[in-house]
Amino acid sequence: MLQLLNNIIQQANEAPDLNHALRLIVNQVKHNLSVDVCSIYLMDDKTNELVLMASEGLLEQSIGIVRLRFNKGLVGLVAERAEPVNLANAHSHSRYHYFSETGEELFHAFLGVPIIQHGSVLGVLVVQHSSKRSFKEEIVKFCATLATQLSVVITHLKAIDGVKKVDKRTHKLNTNIQFTGIPSAPGIVIGTAVVIDLNLSIESIPDKTVENISDEQHRFMKAVHAVKSEIKHLLESISDSLPETYTTLFDAYLLMLESNSFIGAVNDEIKKGNWAQGALRKIMLEFIKTFSEMEDAYLKQRVEDIRDLSKRLLNVLNNNTLNSIKYRDNSILVGHELTASMLAEVPKGKLSGIISVNGSSTSHTAILASALGAAAVLGIDDLPISFIDGFTIIVNGYSGQIFINPDNKRLKEYQLLVTKDQLATKKLWDDRHLPSVSKDNVHIPIYANTGIISDIKPAISSGADGIGLYRTEFSFLESEFFPGEKEQENIYKHVIESFKPHPVTMRTLDVGGDKTLPYFPIEEDNPFLGWRGIRITLDQPEIFLVQARAMLRANIDSHNLKILIPMATSLHEIDNAIALIHQAHQEIVQEGLETPFPQIGAMIEVPSLIYQIAALSKRVDFISIGSNDLTQYLLAVDRNNARVAELYDSLHPSVIAAIYQVVSSAKKNQLPVTICGEMASDPLATILLMGMKIDSLSMNSSSMPRIKSVIRTMKCNDCEKVLSDVLQMEEAITIKEYLISVIKDKGLFGLINPGN
Ligand code: PEP
Ligand code: MG
Repeated sequence: MLQLLNNIIQQANEAPDLNHALRLIVNQVKHNLSVDVCSIYLMDDKTNELVLMASEGLLEQSIGIVRLRFNKGLVGLVAERAEPVNLANAHSHSRYHYFSETGEELFHAFLGVPIIQHGSVLGVLVVQHSSKRSFKEEIVKFCATLATQLSVVITHLKAIDGVKKVDKRTHKLNTNIQFTGIPSAPGIVIGTAVVIDLNLSIESIPDKTVENISDEQHRFMKAVHAVKSEIKHLLESISDSLPETYTTLFDAYLLMLESNSFIGAVNDEIKKGNWAQGALRKIMLEFIKTFSEMEDAYLKQRVEDIRDLSKRLLNVLNNNTLNSIKYRDNSILVGHELTASMLAEVPKGKLSGIISVNGSSTSHTAILASALGAAAVLGIDDLPISFIDGFTIIVNGYSGQIFINPDNKRLKEYQLLVTKDQLATKKLWDDRHLPSVSKDNVHIPIYANTGIISDIKPAISSGADGIGLYRTEFSFLESEFFPGEKEQENIYKHVIESFKPHPVTMRTLDVGGDKTLPYFPIEEDNPFLGWRGIRITLDQPEIFLVQARAMLRANIDSHNLKILIPMATSLHEIDNAIALIHQAHQEIVQEGLETPFPQIGAMIEVPSLIYQIAALSKRVDFISIGSNDLTQYLLAVDRNNARVAELYDSLHPSVIAAIYQVVSSAKKNQLPVTICGEMASDPLATILLMGMKIDSLSMNSSSMPRIKSVIRTMKCNDCEKVLSDVLQMEEAITIKEYLISVIKDKGLFGLINPGN
């Protein structure tokens, strides 16, 4: 049964569109479960009706015609209850509703299971039988399991249909195709989609038009030769140790790579103007289809080998494609998962926005996007990335909406919003050098979060009072190996000197979690709970010592360095890290050089430290709240996982209470406290942080003017009152609504909602 389930899902995934997929599913279910009818009803979002979309067993004429609301018929009952209904004789049920066009009077037994995604009913899968006996447990379990998987397939195919559909009247591609994701970096931009995530399954490889056919054919042949020599090499190295059955498999690969039917067919596809990957997909899927339909079990299994071979070819093709992507002006980077290095590849000035299937507002991709001034919407789980390369896209980084292929009316509407947003940003920008002082005269310094060299100038010109968080790992990510001591010293020196005499807080290496170095791979089931931050560098003191020495050397002339320790769980980690910094300092002094011992701070990211602030105050000079991780660990919600992103909320009452406790105990122990997580750049959260009397805030440069405007408009005393109201509230949504009303009262609504 499991094999059948997997086959149905795989075939549905490979279907060219939703209708084909639904027809295929009902056909497979009817024949393999030996039932008389299998049908699928899907919700029509416009009319809120369930529509019969595909059926094997009901009369053809009823497809697309039968429609019912949740309160009508047995199908409506399944949707209404959101659970299976299994009846021996449907006709005698009070909710039975007869549709004459279906011919269903012949069928008595009825089983309906809901197809649900993210808590909403997408449709209903129904099987029916002529005899008067309810369906066996086996069938119910199968259909219920199939339905859970169908929700993903249907959502995905619906999204693809939305993009590919051609308006029958105008013969033009659909316009204004809207998707919603997680607003992850502010800004509204209009640009052209550049799909760069090429780590896709063979089915999802997009078509792309190429101009130079012979170059593309040459690229394909180069990939074929590269894979041939890779396989020959593999064959040589394993032929002694493997039985012949395995080595003949590789011979078969080689034969295919030399066969004219394969090479010629792909080259013919390229001749039609498609790029090599698209041509390869087309031909490989034809091979896969032919083999999977074969009777012979051995030949049928060769499908997996064809997939393997396709992957090898794609790997080579994709690697040389990444280097040759043409980034246009106003590029909107699109991918399944976009990494910091993919963003770093885009030439300066070309990146306007990013959109992706994975990721969330505090993932490091979002943080980097903000630093680069690009609007970002992440976590669009049904984004049909394979079909949108080259389309015009509107990205609204405030609301999380995107529009693919906007029509003129929508474009004009958004161009207006872009202009308004730019004007508002310019106005804030013009005021950036005004002091960061509240209406009741409390000075709250604003520091910059950075980590990329190109961000240093914007940080300076945005009026930052220094650097509150320098994420050293970004320069490690851009490098091919662990950067050496001198190399690090040069980078740090540039940053430290650029800000002199203002403080520059450098965080020791914080890799692990969603930041892995290509030359230091970490494979873990639970990376965010695993080996990350200080846990790694205490286990590998040689990495820590080199970095600490580089920082101390970089500070020899400037004396404005502070060092920050990430991801500590217990005090002994802080003690050990400080001991290593002392060792590094000693080593430099022994060389006859003079460098001051810097102030040391600890990040409060792991909840265990919330309760150890007094003990911490005896060890460190300051603390910095990493609200991104603190929220993730307090709420047990992966900050990168779009599926649970709705649960990730830094305005959750417990997160606010925890931060309040940290700030209060820091004050009690005369320990300076700052916040460097994304919360510091949220105008709503700023009000609460001001109410807590936080000492300073650290954020990306692009957010500074907005936050400064909140600080300059509000009185800390009023914020204290708002905080005490909020501390009584029970739900994040209530807190958010309340804070929005406060922001509106102060005429600052435009900061979170441009155009207002
Ligand atoms: C944080 O966790 O809030 C933080 C600032 O660190 P990072 O986002 O780099 O994990
Ligand atoms: Mg962190």
